[in-house]
Amino acid sequence: MGVNLPIYFDNAATTKCDPRVVEAMLPYFTEVYGNPGSRNHSFGWAAEEAVDRARQQVARLIGADRKEIIFTSGATESNNLALKGAARMYAKKPAGQEHRGHIVTCAIEHKAVLDPAKRLQKEGFDVTFLEPPADGVITRAMVEEALRDDTILVSIMWANNEIGTINEVPEIGALCHERGVIFHTDATQWVGKMPTDVVRDNIDLLSMSGHKIYGPKGVGALYVRRRRPRVRLQAIAEGGGQERGFRSGTLNVPGIVGLGAACEICMQEMDSERERLLAMRNRLEEQITGRLDTVQVNGHRERRLPHLTNISFGFVEGESLMMATKEIAMSSGSACTSASLEPSYVLKGLGVGDDLAHSSLRISLGRFNTGEEVDYAIDAIVRAVEKLRELSPLYDLHKEGIDITKIQWQAH
Ligand code: PMP
Repeated sequence: MGVNLPIYFDNAATTKCDPRVVEAMLPYFTEVYGNPGSRNHSFGWAAEEAVDRARQQVARLIGADRKEIIFTSGATESNNLALKGAARMYAKKPAGQEHRGHIVTCAIEHKAVLDPAKRLQKEGFDVTFLEPPADGVITRAMVEEALRDDTILVSIMWANNEIGTINEVPEIGALCHERGVIFHTDATQWVGKMPTDVVRDNIDLLSMSGHKIYGPKGVGALYVRRRRPRVRLQAIAEGGGQERGFRSGTLNVPGIVGLGAACEICMQEMDSERERLLAMRNRLEEQITGRLDTVQVNGHRERRLPHLTNISFGFVEGESLMMATKEIAMSSGSACTSASLEPSYVLKGLGVGDDLAHSSLRISLGRFNTGEEVDYAIDAIVRAVEKLRELSPLYDLHKEGIDITKIQWQAH
């Protein structure tokens, strides 16, 4: 059977909405269109019922109570609400003063955590951005060393979106509970793919997003623990008082129904899907690293998501590699910021050099990928790298055994 091009291998960026999810959403645009806040008629009640069901579906996926789920527009908003909401609520000094409390996070979090953390820094909070080790895994010991008497909040992502590494989240949660510190985790890349239980795993606040789990874009959730400890947040969006006052605004009913349906499917299919994707990822990685020399897999080899790999290719230029493989949608190790190509701050954070960061690919597999696509991509990537290296004089020198890092280039 042939392969349909282009191939989509960028499921960590976003996923296709599962047709079963779309089907569940459709009636909520045109038939059940009431405002769940309309408590005095049946249109409102029907919408509220749908939102309640979705809340239950989301809660079940992560082991929470339905009252602990706050619907948002996605993980970016959830992270903002968690960090700013908790810091401002538990600040040890009023706004306008210095040293209002201490926050611990990590330098390779998603920007949706880093930027709110930097905002809080400007508001007078002290923030520690933990530097990751070369394998990218943030451990309990690293967090423990950073904790202070005035630490309010720790925010450590469950799995990294670029390299898929899995942090010691349950252990960090246990530490935070021992010390009376609130623990938030950005679980955007984790939830729906890996078993999650906020009670067992000691989570106080957890961010998730619909579009990473085969649900719609523009909807997500924040889990907010209600018991032992009860976590309070200062709202960012104020208004009608929806979502227990944590997040005002008329609810996105079709989106929420879609998120609920997506969670339900993940719950049912997670185990078999994980096994299938792991086998495909391993084949892809083994073939690429076996058939090419001078390649490296970035991040910890065991502690990482089963459907993702991040590989750097020596002696090829990043942009040329992307061009040569453009029938396969993948992410590169460069982020286009304005006009320039910046190497990924995540890879740089692990100590990967600029050249290797530029020439790296993040390949993230998903529910709708097939084994044929994997085989096609292996051949296409191997061929592209070989071809680019044929044009590389540095690669020739390397093949001759010359260490090019030691060459004294002649200056003219
Ligand atoms: N956190 C992580 C780890 C992510 O991967 C993403 C999406 N790239 C986000 C947050 C932002 O999610 P959303 O698009 O739902 O705002």
